Amino acid sequence: MDTIREVTAECLCIGDELLIGQVLNTNAAWIGQELGLAGIRTVLGRVVGDDQATIVDALRTTRTDIVLLTGGLGPTKDDVTKRALCEFFGTRLVRNPEAEARVVGLFSRLGRDPGRIQPADLAQAMLPESCTVLPNLLGTASGMWFEKDGRVFASLPGVPYEMQAIMHGSVLPRLQGMFRPPAIVHRTIRTTGMGETPLAERLSDWESGLEGEGIRLAYLPSPGQVRLRLSSYAGKDAAFTRNRVDRQVEALYRLIPELIFGEGRTELEEVVGGLLRESGQTLSLAESCTGGFLSHLITSVPGSSAYYIGGVVSYANAVKMAELGIPRDMLELNGVVSGPVAEQMAMGVRTALKSDWAVSTTGIAGPDGGTPDKPVGTVWIAVAGPDGVVSERGVFMGTRDLVISRAATAALNMLRKQLISAPRTKG
Ligand code: ATP
Repeated sequence: MDTIREVTAECLCIGDELLIGQVLNTNAAWIGQELGLAGIRTVLGRVVGDDQATIVDALRTTRTDIVLLTGGLGPTKDDVTKRALCEFFGTRLVRNPEAEARVVGLFSRLGRDPGRIQPADLAQAMLPESCTVLPNLLGTASGMWFEKDGRVFASLPGVPYEMQAIMHGSVLPRLQGMFRPPAIVHRTIRTTGMGETPLAERLSDWESGLEGEGIRLAYLPSPGQVRLRLSSYAGKDAAFTRNRVDRQVEALYRLIPELIFGEGRTELEEVVGGLLRESGQTLSLAESCTGGFLSHLITSVPGSSAYYIGGVVSYANAVKMAELGIPRDMLELNGVVSGPVAEQMAMGVRTALKSDWAVSTTGIAGPDGGTPDKPVGTVWIAVAGPDGVVSERGVFMGTRDLVISRAATAALNMLRKQLISAPRTKG
């Protein structure tokens, strides 16, 4: 009988720069995610320095169906990965004419004289004799595919976009063909407004019913947000599994409607942008403690010029008074980190820039400046709109960067809620 077997993978990333923290190992994260979507379970990830003996040792101790290596292929690295692969597979480096033609082609496309290609670049066409070459159309280091005792070893360049192109172009299709991994149904629900622990408590009854349905739940927290990923092996009937996951997601929407802002890769700033665009309304910002970060998030969405007018980074009190019309006695009476000041900042920028909506932030990002009644992390956020102004106080945990990022997320969410509850079209 045709049984469905779990397919496992290890990701082996090579490079001294990864070990010393000079470069963040984003390749492992990307690969783990792509393999997961393809139904392949990554069970181990390792980082190895640029040393042939260590790489060979690592290869000898792998146990998974699939081993994906990245890095250490470039001419500057003295081909350490290729030499390790030759040692492990008992083969030798030979000149590969197609790889050489690609290197020459790449240089001429870049307008460089092919006669001046350096020997180190041509050395990129020296590849292990027993491998299947995986073409790299974006760089000079080819990918390599080896099979041994029913297992696959694929070695890819370290440069993320080159590695990703070879994964999509060659590796994933080949792995699908060879292992026929079970399809996985995933849905990722994005929430904000509640931390991971209270959220898990609130969802515990719903969560305990998932196991019987064959659905796994993962909590994936990031500053100010928690992603909930539901996944299930599809077996032979993908539509049935999809339906089962969809039903649980519907139940989740009923349980925490106010916390869910989107799904998959949708960011909060995109949701807010979509709401503003739909209603034909505009936005301006008055930022103090977030120092322009909120503006950066808003403008990171393509097409934001349709609704974002601009902002005032009013860091000093003088700017809050001169540009946003905050009365001096309001500052003296309440302090700059206060509800009245936040509200006046939002109303001030809304009037000055003539927008439909305005958001303001004023707070203490730290690490200094906290007091017993206004500790580090205290941020007042206000949203001014056609029907008036509202403000909220939050106390955000973490380093300065985290406080800024969490405050910006909370501000976007507050605006989202106001936009949802307000009439949808420009009055
Ligand atoms: P190329 O010949 O195209 O340079 P390569 O395999 O030699 O490929 P490396 O020299 O190992 O690649 O790495 C090149 C660059 O790619 C590194 O300096 C780093 O910026 C990036 N890089 C390498 N490995 C990783 C990784 N695991 N995660 C993120 N970036 C990486």
